[in-house]
Amino acid sequence: MGDDYHDQDSVWFGSSQPKASSSSASRSTQEELDAEMARKLQEQMDMEDTKQELDDLEAARKLQAEEADAKRLEDDAKFAKELYLSEKASDPGRVGGGGGRGGGGGRRADPSNDSTHCATCGKSMHLVRSSLNALGQSYCNNDSCFSCALCAEAINDGSFQVFEGSPVHSSCFTAHVVPSCVVCDCKVPTNSQGHYSYNKHPFFQNWKYCASHEDSRRCTSCNRVEPRRAPFAQLGDSRVLCDSCCRTTILDSSELAPIWSDVLSFLNDLDLLVWPEMSKIPILSVDFQTLNDKVGQKRSAHVGQGGPITRGLCLTETEGEGVMMPQFSFDPRRNNFSLQHRHYSFGASTAHVTAILVLSGLPKLLTGSILAHEAIHAWLKLHPGYLSLINRTGGEGFDKQSEEGVCQLVAHLYLASQERTLTTHDTSSSFPPGDSGDLNEKHLNQFFKFSIETEKSPIYGEGYRKAAALYEQIGLEPILQFMVENGTLPC
Ligand SMILES: [Zn+2]
Ligand SMILES: [Zn+2]
Ligand SMILES: [Zn+2]
Ligand SMILES: [Zn+2]
Ligand SMILES: [Zn+2]
Repeated sequence: MGDDYHDQDSVWFGSSQPKASSSSASRSTQEELDAEMARKLQEQMDMEDTKQELDDLEAARKLQAEEADAKRLEDDAKFAKELYLSEKASDPGRVGGGGGRGGGGGRRADPSNDSTHCATCGKSMHLVRSSLNALGQSYCNNDSCFSCALCAEAINDGSFQVFEGSPVHSSCFTAHVVPSCVVCDCKVPTNSQGHYSYNKHPFFQNWKYCASHEDSRRCTSCNRVEPRRAPFAQLGDSRVLCDSCCRTTILDSSELAPIWSDVLSFLNDLDLLVWPEMSKIPILSVDFQTLNDKVGQKRSAHVGQGGPITRGLCLTETEGEGVMMPQFSFDPRRNNFSLQHRHYSFGASTAHVTAILVLSGLPKLLTGSILAHEAIHAWLKLHPGYLSLINRTGGEGFDKQSEEGVCQLVAHLYLASQERTLTTHDTSSSFPPGDSGDLNEKHLNQFFKFSIETEKSPIYGEGYRKAAALYEQIGLEPILQFMVENGTLPC
């Protein structure tokens, strides 16, 4: 059995990363030393790779920890890992012959590991035929002592990966740690440095995909990229909508009426005096093209997350509106009439909200928040003090950041109020949502709030954050009153 140790090393640790050393001192021919040296070098390189991989996967791992929800815990592999970790935590420093606990595959760490005892079973290395040094620990040649932290099976095929500081099978690592792409269903690729590389949705962080799909179609509502195996519904105007967002999609103006009255009573609940005219404003559901054509006419627009998509519009008639009047004049040299147009201004003597337009096809909650946003535009324009603000500011009216900021604030408040009602109906919503991609109303609502909170644009994003800070201090009505008097948020 003399060569057995050596053979066993090879079988055990094969070609790669772990550092294998025999307790036998008999292997000392030059050839063996050379081989040993080459192997050590290789192994050092491999460990460096592992370190890089560790860095690269830090984010993935943190996420993994966050995602350790009930569903994941049901997974046998995870359970084994938890068992391992809990044993490690509850039984520190235990050294010894394994007692009754050594045989089950559970492993105990030995913090005082001096490489003379197995880090798992505590057996003295003098008593074992061969040992393995890996991750700063020594392990004896008992199969269960160097085992995978994910599946608890022995690692004996010669290669392993490091996950949360513990060795795991390469196959388990690929299966359980490397994310799959939601678009193409493949495991995400590695980049030129050998690091796993992928993009993910900023809010639904388990929506991970190969960076090459960044420009794929996305749901116009929740902004998730479209999976190839489950195409999204087409809205007929180049936009697509995922199944979750489809559930409550608003396609028709008649569906907007109850949402609008809901928004008005919400404003009432915020102690805002709702102008009587507001309940008579036509609320129209329009397609993408119609809305954007209107936006082209220099009106107040609402830009959503995920690109400059206009989702709502409040049409008003003030600010030097007027008509082009035809004016005929006689030209005696040509003995003919010539036609010219002259602008006739109504003057800013009346303010009137013509209509509120909302992009069709969006889920009910998002539609409601857009209406809440537009309602504040309407409220400001219908305020008795608005016309004198217009005249004082030479037609300028409100500072754009202040106006959009306070409109976004009320859209956010509306979503928060909706979430409270959802919470009572829907207690089953765990977060993050499962891998099926199905989002419930609460998940979507949280994303819509998140979009407002994290919007980067100076007008909508910064404007919202300024208004939200003020709201905490003085409440909504004083902000709006100040704006009508001064055109800007109080500072
Ligand atoms: Zn052992
Ligand atoms: Zn495994
Ligand atoms: Zn992919
Ligand atoms: Zn969606
Ligand atoms: Zn707006």
